[in-house]
Amino acid sequence: MRSLYGGIEAGGTKFVCAVGTCPDDVSAEVRFATTTPSETIGRTIDFFRERPEPLTAIGIGSFGPLDLNPDSPTYGYITTTTKTGWTNTNFAGVLQEALNVPVLLDTDVNAAALGEHKWGVAQGLDTFIYLTVGTGIGGGGMVNGHLIHGLSHPEMGHVYIPHDPVRDPYPGCCLYHGDCLEGLACGPAIEERWGQPPETLPADHSAWRLEARYLALGLVNIIFALSPQRVIIGGGVLQQESLLPMVRKNVHELIHDFVPVPPLSNDTDSYIVLPALGQKAGVLGAIALAQQAISLP
Ligand code: ADP
Ligand code: ZN
Repeated sequence: MRSLYGGIEAGGTKFVCAVGTCPDDVSAEVRFATTTPSETIGRTIDFFRERPEPLTAIGIGSFGPLDLNPDSPTYGYITTTTKTGWTNTNFAGVLQEALNVPVLLDTDVNAAALGEHKWGVAQGLDTFIYLTVGTGIGGGGMVNGHLIHGLSHPEMGHVYIPHDPVRDPYPGCCLYHGDCLEGLACGPAIEERWGQPPETLPADHSAWRLEARYLALGLVNIIFALSPQRVIIGGGVLQQESLLPMVRKNVHELIHDFVPVPPLSNDTDSYIVLPALGQKAGVLGAIALAQQAISLP
C-alpha cells in the first residue's frame, strides 16, 4: 500500500487542506475561511475523515506563535496569537486524537522552507532562510540540515532595523514593537503609509525604494547572523516585480564586500530568489512535514 500524506496550510485568513505525496501528486484540495478554532479544526477533521484512502501522517504549517517544545504541556498549541479566539488553542493534539495518525506541526514559513528544500530552490542546501512578506513578515529555514527551532521558533520579521523618522514619519504597525521590520514593511504598513493598497502602487513609486531598503536591512541582519547559502523571499508584496531587483542591490551595497564568498559576493540574482512552489508552497510544505513526521524518532 502506498503512503499518502495530509497537509494543512493553516493561515490567519484561510485554511488549505490536501492529500498527496509531491508537487505532481496533490489531490482533494479544499480551502475554507479561518473562523473559530472549533469550527475550523472541525472542518479540517471532517475533510481528512472523508478521504477514502488511509493517511500515513499529517503535517501542519501554521500561523503562530506555536509551542513546538515536545516536553511542554502545551506542545502543539497555537499560543499568544493576536488572532481573535485562537489564543492557547490545542491544534496538533486535537487532530492527532481525532484522526489517529502522527501529526507534525511547524510554522508556516518552516513548512514552506521544507517544501522548497525537498522540491524547490533550496534542494541540496543545508542552511538557508525563507522570508515571506505579506499581511505580516515571517521567516524560517534550515541550519545545518535541520529546520530552525530553539527556545521557540524564529521571529525574523520582528528584527529591529534603522528607522529614520524624518525620512519616513510612519511609526510602524507592529502591535508589540511598533517599527520593527514587520511594523515598517509588511503589506498593511505600506498601505497605511501611502494611503493605498500596495497592489495599486505603480512600479516606479518611491514606496518601493523604501520597501526594498527596509527588506534589505532586515535580510542583511539575518544573513550576518546565520550565513545562509541562499535566501528565498516570497509573499504577496513580492508580486511587485520591481521590488526584488532593488532588494538585491541594497543587500549587495549594505554588505560592503565584507563576505567575499560567491554567490553572495558576485551574484545576488542567484543568492536572493523567489520560491519555486508558488501558490502551492504552503500545502506542499505541510505534506513535506508529514513525511518527516514518520521519519523522526
Ligand atoms: P498572507 O500574508 O495573508 O498569507 P499574502 O502573502 O498574499 O497573504 O500577502 C498579502 C499582502 O500582499 C497584502 O498586504 C496585499 O496588499 C499585498 N499584495 C497583494 N498583491 C500585491 C501586489 N500585486 N503587489 C504588492 N503587494 C501585493
Ligand atoms: Zn514586531
